[in-house]
Amino acid sequence: MADIAVNLRAVRQRVDQAAERSGRDPSAVELLVVTKTWPPDVIAEVLEAGHQLLGENKLQEAGAKIPELHASARWHFIGHLQRNKARKALALFEAIHSVDSLRLAHHLDRVAGELGLRPLIYLQVNAAGEQSKSGFGITELQEALPELFALKHVQVAGLMSIPPVVESPEDARPSFRKLRELRDGLEESSEVPLPGLSMGMSHDFEVAIEEGATIVRVGSAIFGPRRGVGFPPS
Ligand SMILES: *Cc1c(COP(=O)(O)O)cnc(C)c1O
Repeated sequence: MADIAVNLRAVRQRVDQAAERSGRDPSAVELLVVTKTWPPDVIAEVLEAGHQLLGENKLQEAGAKIPELHASARWHFIGHLQRNKARKALALFEAIHSVDSLRLAHHLDRVAGELGLRPLIYLQVNAAGEQSKSGFGITELQEALPELFALKHVQVAGLMSIPPVVESPEDARPSFRKLRELRDGLEESSEVPLPGLSMGMSHDFEVAIEEGATIVRVGSAIFGPRRGVGFPPS
């Protein structure tokens, strides 16, 4: 497993190079290391290598693992979140990448207020209207923005997307570009700041960075192919 530190360094280097290639400051692109399905002893290698920003997509799995890991880790939630799990999520995660409805945002805001927290939220966009994926439609998002920005406790960081799986990384470029253009348009029409763009995974993070990603979510490029089950096995 000595490979993890090596892989991590290689991915961070590719992140930096993609940023430089597109005339961006590498420090403006965060690497979220997605640790889903990997047990704490494997994840600990990432922390030991000096990287703290980690992501999980299942609450139950995260709840079992996070207490096992050093408190220096910073956790972002990237999976579908049910409203009745908001309290548990906010106790574990400093950011939620997958806020897919106004109702969820309101609920997170209320719970964050009760807990005295100021979590970052990304608004998940389902621009292609894919049935299998959750997220705001474009018009829905436009209409919801004033209300989202009026929330007192959650801080809207920007937009997030999970584009359709494609053959080659280059094929993902149009959907990344579309999210950036949507962001630019919303900033202009709604006069709100939406600096964050959570997009790009192992297969296509370099293209995402070239198109403006500010945080890429990378798992298998660092850990290798995922195991079939999570931790603890469910
Ligand atoms: C699993 C996951 C990732 C990371 O996927 P890799 O292809 O392993 O890099 C990124 N984002 C989300 C939402 C995920 O569920």
